[in-house]
Amino acid sequence: MKLLKDRILAEGRALSDSVLKVDGFLNHQVDADLMQAVGQDFCEHFKDYGITRVLTIESSGIAPAVYTAQALKVPMVILKKQTSKTLNGQVFQTNITSFTKGTSYELTLSRDYIHRDDRVLIIDDFLANGEAATGAARLVQMAGATVAGIGILIEKSFQKGRGRLEQAGFDVYSQARIARLGEGIIEFL
Ligand code: 5GP
Repeated sequence: MKLLKDRILAEGRALSDSVLKVDGFLNHQVDADLMQAVGQDFCEHFKDYGITRVLTIESSGIAPAVYTAQALKVPMVILKKQTSKTLNGQVFQTNITSFTKGTSYELTLSRDYIHRDDRVLIIDDFLANGEAATGAARLVQMAGATVAGIGILIEKSFQKGRGRLEQAGFDVYSQARIARLGEGIIEFL
């Protein structure tokens, strides 16, 4: 997606050969117009997949996911990183290792919002080693629903996430695929 790639080149900053900072439009400050365009692009790609729910992980997935859900005219569901007291009992949970923080956390889905007949589109900001997306897919499967697709804004193609997701049989669409990062270097595939 050209708009997203142009913005990554203009404002993204490689913190190392494996971490890209895009706080100015996605992870800290959010450009709503860009997120709406991202949502339209995901809608265009996935419109014939029979999607009934868009699922994302708090917090950076929420902005692109909500516009995707709006474009597809389906509800958006947020996976929680902490078990809320108001979700007690009726939840599915799975453990995730965070790529950026190196720690692990529990991801929680209420039983109320994904059902057996749902075809779910998982949206996330980054794909690195595929931990977050794999965990989200596990929760969809625990609910007895189907992962119809996975949409990623920024895929770091030099890491193992895409291979892992494809090996598990998932259909992955990434809007920007990065081949290489380094000091002052951002190269697309
Ligand atoms: P994975 O689970 O695929 O290993 O990593 C994806 C998750 O880690 C994303 O949800 C994102 O929050 C975070 N992440 C991974 N790599 C980067 C990166 O280079 N920059 C930023 N800002 N977040 C990243």
